[in-house]
Amino acid sequence: MRKTIILMLSVALLACTNAAKQPKLEDECLYSPSKTQFQFWSNVAEQMEVRIYNGDCWVDDGEEPCEIVPLTKGANDFWTATVKGDLAGKFYTVRSFQNGEWAPESPGIFAKAVSINGQRAAIIDMKATDPENWDKDVRPAMTDPTDIVVYETHLRDYTMANPAIENKGKFLALTEEPAINHLKELGITHLQILPMFDYGSIDETNLDQNRYNWGYDPVNYNVPEGGYSTNPADPACRIREAKLMIQALHANGIRVIMDVVYNHTYDVMGCALGRVVPQYFYRLNEDGSYANGSGCGNETASDHEMYRKFMVESVCYWAREYHIDGFRFDLMGIHDQETMRQIRAALDEIDPTILTYGEGWAAMSPAYPYEDLAMKQWTYKMPRVGAFSDDIRNALIGSPFDHDPGFASGNPAGVKDVMRGLIACPEWSGEPMQHVSYITCHDNYCLRDRIDVSAPDESEETKLRMNKLAQTAVLVSQGMSFIYGGEELYRTKRGIDNSYQSPDSINIIPWENKREYYDLFEYYKQMIAIRRAHKGFRLGSAEAVKEHVEFLDADNDQVIIYRIKDLEGIDSAKSLLVVLNGSAKVVKTAIPEGDYILLAFNGGADAEGMGELHNEQIAAGPYSATILAEK
Ligand code: CA
Repeated sequence: MRKTIILMLSVALLACTNAAKQPKLEDECLYSPSKTQFQFWSNVAEQMEVRIYNGDCWVDDGEEPCEIVPLTKGANDFWTATVKGDLAGKFYTVRSFQNGEWAPESPGIFAKAVSINGQRAAIIDMKATDPENWDKDVRPAMTDPTDIVVYETHLRDYTMANPAIENKGKFLALTEEPAINHLKELGITHLQILPMFDYGSIDETNLDQNRYNWGYDPVNYNVPEGGYSTNPADPACRIREAKLMIQALHANGIRVIMDVVYNHTYDVMGCALGRVVPQYFYRLNEDGSYANGSGCGNETASDHEMYRKFMVESVCYWAREYHIDGFRFDLMGIHDQETMRQIRAALDEIDPTILTYGEGWAAMSPAYPYEDLAMKQWTYKMPRVGAFSDDIRNALIGSPFDHDPGFASGNPAGVKDVMRGLIACPEWSGEPMQHVSYITCHDNYCLRDRIDVSAPDESEETKLRMNKLAQTAVLVSQGMSFIYGGEELYRTKRGIDNSYQSPDSINIIPWENKREYYDLFEYYKQMIAIRRAHKGFRLGSAEAVKEHVEFLDADNDQVIIYRIKDLEGIDSAKSLLVVLNGSAKVVKTAIPEGDYILLAFNGGADAEGMGELHNEQIAAGPYSATILAEK
């Protein structure tokens, strides 16, 4: 008996040791002044080599490597070599020999520093990229994910048209006071930045062309984009400047969320994943062709052990090296649920307040069993991983697949779905933090344009009312709040609903509107303040939502009366009452008896209160929100 136990123990210990010994994909290049260690994974290579270059040019510039180092295959299909001497300042590629020929060179799948346009990996001392006091950088305080307000933006959208910003379109822009102060004034807690890893659609050698792209075309997943640095030819520059941005935002109380695009690569053989190990990192159709759940020509295979490991290591790398506070997963529905759970577990070991959420859908059908994918309807199976709620979005402003109005623009059809969205769709989200409440993001029309196409004959005054009403529903929802940057300044993309490569003139946030539409900005600001002042709007658990939230009978299919009650010990208000009037008429509504402070009414909002109310009825203005806090 005793012998058996010892045997079992040693087997367990062995399994444990093996897992611990599994090399890390991120350790492709470990630099020290005396030596550099290389390590790459391939399960199909017959030979592998590292090619070391003095120059930082394109791979096809004809420069011969100054040294070619063969790699030796070791355990777990990892190939390694150690090169003595100080290689700082040099570049490298890796290539593998398989099926009788050498595959094209690549910077490896986990390059951490790269040349201009990311064709070669750079050997640098990562420590030397840390800004001063980087070791003292801390994540701003955060208690519950539903407390936060995310502001999504693109570095160019946010900075190109602001005359007070010096480093327009660069990471450094977000270290400047005029850029940071607007976010602080608005009161958001998290800045979500469109892809800031190295992507391919902008030629970093020709930045004076001032071209624009969202950046959903990954080249090097673990390096900041060179186009956002002041000098993409210096591999350390982009790393240091990305860190400076994050440090400055943290110092001002703002957390940073990265938009990650692990679901596809720009192409297959042009990308390191395809070059290092052909096919393995992608899902294939039965006929051997590349599956295309992304709609971009391929889809990655998170269900394959080493790609899953890659994703887990990659997010952890950004969280540790760059102090990133959250990840928004593009087309998360292409990834499998188990990968998302493992990512969550790995980030929890670094800091459980790091956020994870994504798009719970794919562009086309992924080549993987639907019930195992990280689709929105299975969100509850991935605790503390959230999904964007197209439910509340479509119900409030209409679906992106047509131009119909939503509840906030006069269509009563969505009323039940708005109510579900207000309580964070528990049937799929599980918990409120897993429901990202939003109406607009970089995709599809921005809010102004959406209302313009769905209610074309209305006056601007009415459209502004609809705008405020829709955003109010987002900000009083029990889910996690998300706002598309620039909506507070009444941005327009002039009717373009997919501006991924439109010029700055379409994508920029119009800063002059901060004067012209100050009332709208002030409303957004006050609504954010109201949310942040009242815990009742962010109860934090499905159980608490069930206990405290009720919908009163409005006797009108264009009016919602949303009440959060019994808040003693939770909120400064005894109860909160929200009346959303999605109709064009003034609607008189009975309210429960009580002494109230008026927080929002008829297109205005003030977190400090707009007055007191003792009535048993209110007259809700057309397309407007009324918010009452019971004293
Ligand atoms: Ca790039």
